[in-house]
Amino acid sequence: MSDFDDFINSLPTEIEGQRGTKVERRYTCGQCGGTGKWSGGTNRYGNSYCLACGGRGYFTTSPEFRAKRRAAVQAKKEDRAEQVRRAVKEFSEEHPDMWADLVAARTDFTASLYMQLVQRGALTQNQINAWYRGWEKRQAIISARKAETEAKGGAVNLDRIREMFDAATASGYKKPCYRAEGLKITLAPATGRNAGALYVVEIEDDAYQGKIENVTFKAVRETKANTLARLQAIAADPKGAAIRYGQRTGTCSCCGRELTNHTSIEMGIGPICAQKWGF
Ligand SMILES: [Zn+2]
Ligand SMILES: [Zn+2]
Repeated sequence: MSDFDDFINSLPTEIEGQRGTKVERRYTCGQCGGTGKWSGGTNRYGNSYCLACGGRGYFTTSPEFRAKRRAAVQAKKEDRAEQVRRAVKEFSEEHPDMWADLVAARTDFTASLYMQLVQRGALTQNQINAWYRGWEKRQAIISARKAETEAKGGAVNLDRIREMFDAATASGYKKPCYRAEGLKITLAPATGRNAGALYVVEIEDDAYQGKIENVTFKAVRETKANTLARLQAIAADPKGAAIRYGQRTGTCSCCGRELTNHTSIEMGIGPICAQKWGF
């Protein structure tokens, strides 16, 4: 017997075996007691092998060594997760617009970038560039749309429209409503956020066209291109516009009712309304 054999024999082995000429230590599996079978029946893979030892019934490394290795693997995993978290945070600070867009994940593209970023902590330069190209395109569309909407609004000299609404309110109308040039103008509730403003709606389809605040007409996206011009025509001559409306539609600009008697139709406005609205 060599010193080496003595040494091996002196170890508190449970099983000793030989693989080739190399002596292999064996540590009985604690899970299956060395049988290699799981006593609980069929495991989640559809067989009855012990999952701890892979069905061998023993390990070639000590329980302490395996515990240490497991801990090291776990620590490495946690390190990696921490690194990814930090990288994602840095990325979000460096690209705030992009980060907000990825989080919102409105498209498959941004959703996929988000998943890759939080899993790997980084995106490729090509991916980043592709996102910025799309973003710039979208920003250009948004500002063009905004400019287009703003261009549909503009200044309106409201003095005469105001006078008319003041007269109607003084005559006791709670919700004065005026129609002309295909538009319906109403007074915003006196207690609301828009008190003093006038709302403008397209009569034909009831589409909101915007509001007049002070002397400015503020358009919205749906505002028709000629709405401002129509408002300016009304502002120049509210009475004339009301008469034109009455003659064209056969209904009264102020109360919306049908103009019946001959005089009314000729006048284009109901006589009582004309008086109450200060015409
Ligand atoms: Zn086992
Ligand atoms: Zn009327």
